[in-house]
Amino acid sequence: MKLTRFPRVRITHGPTPLEFMPRMTEALGGPNLYVKRDDCTGLGTGGNKTRKLEFLMADAQRNQADTIITQGATQSNHARQTVAIAARMGMKCEILLEDRTGSKAENYKRSGNVFLDHLYGANVQELPGGTDMNAAMAHLAEELKAKGRKPYIIPGGGSNPIGALGYVVCALELVDQFNDQGLAVDCVVHATGSAGTQAGLVAGFEGTRSQIPVLGIGVRAAQEAQETSVYNLAVKTAELLGVPGAVARDSVKANCDYVGGGYGVPTPGMVEAVTMMARLEGILLDPVYSGKGMAGLIDLCRKGHFKKGQNVVFLHTGGAVALYGYMDAFAGLKPL
Ligand SMILES: *Cc1c(COP(=O)(O)O)cnc(C)c1O
Repeated sequence: MKLTRFPRVRITHGPTPLEFMPRMTEALGGPNLYVKRDDCTGLGTGGNKTRKLEFLMADAQRNQADTIITQGATQSNHARQTVAIAARMGMKCEILLEDRTGSKAENYKRSGNVFLDHLYGANVQELPGGTDMNAAMAHLAEELKAKGRKPYIIPGGGSNPIGALGYVVCALELVDQFNDQGLAVDCVVHATGSAGTQAGLVAGFEGTRSQIPVLGIGVRAAQEAQETSVYNLAVKTAELLGVPGAVARDSVKANCDYVGGGYGVPTPGMVEAVTMMARLEGILLDPVYSGKGMAGLIDLCRKGHFKKGQNVVFLHTGGAVALYGYMDAFAGLKPL
């Protein structure tokens, strides 16, 4: 795979740790549970978008951009990481936030990632739910060009073949860590949304014939649609890497049974997962992605889908800053 041919801004604090979770493992009584700490990628409270942005921002630089445009939901972790890296690289940043949940909570609309977007210096526009966000970004780019600026559009979640290269890097990093620790891994589980994370992981594992299964836990779309979008992006990513045909359709697996009422809408399983990880491992998940991803993993352990003696790695994709936008969902917390 010709990974090193792509320009890359080195910004991730990596390799991120791969840690055993003794108390979660004991509490669930099933497989040995490990966590890959991509919540600790470093930049601006971290998360999975930082790895994608290493390649996307290098591409923006190559195109001599002076302004980054991107979009996401109100509490977008992607938007927040993009503004932070733009600030560090001395670029302006335009963020379009879609009101995807309809939440009226003051902390949802102002705290967490939204506060940080402003702190890192973004120009933030809030748009109603259902807005054609790609059209809105294209329109804004035309306006900026007319003013002599050089905008570069990053798609929602940073999910295109260039962004997915960041998770090809992570796949190689994981293979190294599994070899170093002598760990035979039965599955890597993580929350999947705009598809770039899973597409990059699958392209990386399949492109190197590592035979490590990946399971995405969906946070928005239904299973068929989610698997199709991950597969299509993984195929394009493999082509970009010079290994066309490396990705088989059946290497792309998503379970979308844990979305609940919709994207960004809290579920009892998410609240339980976030609380368990905080109280058993001292690790903060997020309410929109990793909380639902872990809710899925917990349920699959309880149902015996993953068994005692197996080794399962949860890829922690970050986002805990969004907890401050979701305090209402945790209103009933009791002390241990
Ligand atoms: C964006 C995001 C994801 C999903 O990653 P995709 O590449 O969009 O599928 C998972 N977890 C967190 C915390 C995220 O911000």
